[in-house]
Amino acid sequence: MKVAIMGAGLSGLCCAIILEQNGIEPVIFEKRNLCGDRFINGEAIFNITNRPINNCLDFFKDKYNINLKPISEVKEITIYSPNFESNLSGNLGYTNYRGRHKDSFENQLFNQVKSEIIFNSNYDYEDLTKEFTHVVLATGDSAYASKLNNFKTDLTVNLRGATVEGNFGLSHISSWYNNEFSPKGYSYLIPLNEREANISIGYPVYEDTKKYKIDDLWDKFYKRAQKDTEQKLNIIDKFEVERYIIGICHKAKLDNTYFIGNCFGAISPGFGLGQFVSVLTGIYAAFDICSKGDYEELVVPLRETYENSLVFRRRLEKLSNNQLDFLIGGINDKLISKMFSDDTEIDFFKIASKLLKPFTKL
Ligand SMILES: Cc1cc2nc3c(=O)[nH]c(=O)nc-3n(C[C@H](O)[C@H](O)[C@H](O)COP(=O)(O)OP(=O)(O)OC[C@H]3O[C@@H](n4cnc5c(N)ncnc54)[C@H](O)[C@@H]3O)c2cc1C
Repeated sequence: MKVAIMGAGLSGLCCAIILEQNGIEPVIFEKRNLCGDRFINGEAIFNITNRPINNCLDFFKDKYNINLKPISEVKEITIYSPNFESNLSGNLGYTNYRGRHKDSFENQLFNQVKSEIIFNSNYDYEDLTKEFTHVVLATGDSAYASKLNNFKTDLTVNLRGATVEGNFGLSHISSWYNNEFSPKGYSYLIPLNEREANISIGYPVYEDTKKYKIDDLWDKFYKRAQKDTEQKLNIIDKFEVERYIIGICHKAKLDNTYFIGNCFGAISPGFGLGQFVSVLTGIYAAFDICSKGDYEELVVPLRETYENSLVFRRRLEKLSNNQLDFLIGGINDKLISKMFSDDTEIDFFKIASKLLKPFTKL
């Protein structure tokens, strides 16, 4: 058996680790000259969106022996609507580095992989199918799946972010739902360390959001973030991602080709989170290759989570600023807060999306 993995990112490296644990050494093809060779940003991985799991990183370590060290635990999230703010607290999840930082998830995984990585690769998928019995597509985008007519696109998103200086509590994330600067989308602040944080806006590109200029949205958000954090937030770095595609594969596997990470459809349409599913799809594809599971069956719950999240997205897109105020103001309610807390296994998002689905046009 000869296995090629195309892409040495989050999902590709996790797939390699599980293959190695089972005695298979894949060859990894990476188009860049390093692992994680892209802008540094802070991302989050939440326990609350992956119930019944109560601790995502312990789950990867204990169940699959994949070790990922976070920047910090997330103990508090402040959610701002145009005129209100609410707080969630508990063991909500983790923040982590991505990209060129030495402690990024990519670099941590790179240190756990023993297989050969061919950097600066310009092999394409067709080349690899000729030389290898199994090809795992882990390129972080839907290009190959679309080319093979195997991808349903649900939305494309424009993202702009910056690293800012200030004073930050490491375990405290902030997020904003406000159509003035992230129409139908969201904005967030994730601390990288006590002195630096990422701030970012993201919004879907539809006919009615095309009229917005990202510079104008960004200016409004930046001022609002300065006001809410009561800090100057001096910008020291910037990043931009245009038309980030969110969607999902019709088939997770075509013959001996596996789609994992964003190639599978890891990013949740509701909140743009993709790390948890990226890691899991890497693991599950490896199980299939080692005859320890059926990839298509293993991803069934991931598809369900994706569809639930799409229900959320479609509802979110319909909310006016007044409705966002009403909803976010309500999160302070003790009962709602309890649904997100660390000692529960209740999948709030699953229940809510089941209730909302009959009234939602997908
Ligand atoms: C700005 C931003 C913020 C995000 N924030 C969050 C967050 O807070 N929480 C969360 O859970 N998710 C977040 N996500 C989503 C998450 O980052 C992705 O879902 C996850 O990284 C996807 O992993 P992957 O393995 O599919 O791709 P990646 O980790 O991106 O790896 C893809 C690899 O493939 C390589 N590659 C590409 N093309 C080729 C080729 N032709 N040949 C060889 N190699 C190739 C790339 O260089 C790269 O190394 C965010 C995404 C973005 C863009």
